[in-house]
Amino acid sequence: MDIKDHIRAIPDFPKKGILFYDISTLLSHPDAWQVAMGRMAKIVGQHRPDILVGIESRGFLVAAPLALKLGCGFVMARKRGKLPGKTVEHEYDLEYGTDAIALQDDALAPGQRVVVLDDLLATGGTLNATIELCKKVGGNVVGAAGIIELTFLNGRSRIDVPFDSLISYD
Ligand code: AMP
Repeated sequence: MDIKDHIRAIPDFPKKGILFYDISTLLSHPDAWQVAMGRMAKIVGQHRPDILVGIESRGFLVAAPLALKLGCGFVMARKRGKLPGKTVEHEYDLEYGTDAIALQDDALAPGQRVVVLDDLLATGGTLNATIELCKKVGGNVVGAAGIIELTFLNGRSRIDVPFDSLISYD
């Protein structure tokens, strides 16, 4: 099965000039989603993770089912201000201004093998910031993965752990 057949590219979203790769059509197709998660489980399982960190919000959709498949835990990395209790944040630069990603301060136990997941790797800024944050709270980040990679943006060069994707666009 070609996963690309189930991903829809929408021009000029969320702003003019961006070609948005929409995974809604993959999620809503039971066989294709099953196959995609099966392939992701093989890739991610090789890292022998204890816990999967999903990046808000579409990273949750990838990490939660994989955690069930692989028998490991799932942790949410969220935008600043969304998680209750004590949190640790990491700021990162956007095209204009900065943003921050947060974890609950007890989300990862020291030395736990962590794999960070998102739906798509573009410039790598979000994934890199999340990896740095996981390290800050004591996680041993052993890998990262996504369904889609936009190779022409070379986001992979910003990621200092092994990164895998199911499909890529150039
Ligand atoms: P980046 O930090 O540039 O790697 O952007 C990655 C984040 O933005 C991911 O959480 C993606 O879901 C989202 N994103 C960036 N570019 C696109 C795109 N062309 N289509 C869909 N999602 C995107």
